[in-house]
Amino acid sequence: SAVLALSLAACGGEGAGGSGGAGSGGGAEDLTIGVSMPTQTSERWIADGNNVKEQLEAEGYSVDLQYAGDDIPTQSQQIDQMITEGADILVIAAIDGTALAGQLENAASNDIPVIAYDRLIRDSENVNFYVTFDNFAVGVAQGTALLTGLGVLNADGSAGTATGPFNIELFAGSLDDNNAFFFFNGAMSVLQPKIDDGTLVVKSNQTDIEQAAILRWQQETAQRRMEDLLTSTYNDGSRVDGVLSPYDGISRGIITALQNAGYGPTLDAANPMPIVTGQDAEIASVKLIADGVQSSTIFKDTRLLAEQAVAAAAAFAEGNEPEANDTETYDNGVKVVPSYLLPVETVFADNIQSVLVDSGYWTAEEVASGQ
Ligand code: BGC
Repeated sequence: SAVLALSLAACGGEGAGGSGGAGSGGGAEDLTIGVSMPTQTSERWIADGNNVKEQLEAEGYSVDLQYAGDDIPTQSQQIDQMITEGADILVIAAIDGTALAGQLENAASNDIPVIAYDRLIRDSENVNFYVTFDNFAVGVAQGTALLTGLGVLNADGSAGTATGPFNIELFAGSLDDNNAFFFFNGAMSVLQPKIDDGTLVVKSNQTDIEQAAILRWQQETAQRRMEDLLTSTYNDGSRVDGVLSPYDGISRGIITALQNAGYGPTLDAANPMPIVTGQDAEIASVKLIADGVQSSTIFKDTRLLAEQAVAAAAAFAEGNEPEANDTETYDNGVKVVPSYLLPVETVFADNIQSVLVDSGYWTAEEVASGQ
């Protein structure tokens, strides 16, 4: 069994069935890690897949990396196949976090540890560990960035001079992704008090996450919802001042709808582009931020997340439990999954250089060209 192979590897014995490789002499060269990623339409998942694969291979593991094209049956089938082909550990970023219980049962009966990557897998006993960012903190940062962009808060977090009332609209992510709730709830923890005191007005009244959600985080769907909001709510000459957006692709859809409706350019004082937030520091959005079109994004360093996934895999490979820094937050409906949470950073135009370029995440040329 995989567990036998794992414990043999941990004792320095001959792993069962391993063909050996160019590894560093531990058990890693006998182990295959299946890495299941959701989609290649967003560059963060491409970077995640590459980072995890490169870092695992550098440790001597074999890696089976698959992308599922945002199609749930494809992801289920890819995971089943990884198990059939003898994966020893699975790293999974789910498309629909509620749809993989069957695959995880299959993994458990083959003694394969499962590491949920970035997105929690729900409704299953068989999630062994979760590596992610502090997702509630992402939402708090997005809500705060919206207030900062509007001038309600200063950059240092103190109260700004702007008092509104500002018209805002709210967007959320895909409801089958557990993270969408953390982002939205985190943001609303900051925005709700400002709605209650009249600083912010959600003019459409669409304040429930179900109304704000964008299935599969799709840019086109977001553009259509923004167009609908402009038609239904802002055809009386009133203006949108800010939009809470959970992800850069959604932000670009929102911005396109606003531009088509005549908003911007930003420096047109009479008709400025609304303050639009984001997430992931996608290069097209970083350029829009540098150009003053999008206001902010949240930077999640996927290189560090890959490192945590590799550390968790290595712990399981040695028969140990990975080290958690949170054992309370991520209840998947069946159990609280031990987690490792990474911090995030907010990016505005004035810290693109220090946060994204100086760290080597993007080059100055990429920021200038947007690709
Ligand atoms: C991730 C975000 C990403 C979103 C859309 C979420 O699960 O945490 O970083 O923006 O999916 O891909």
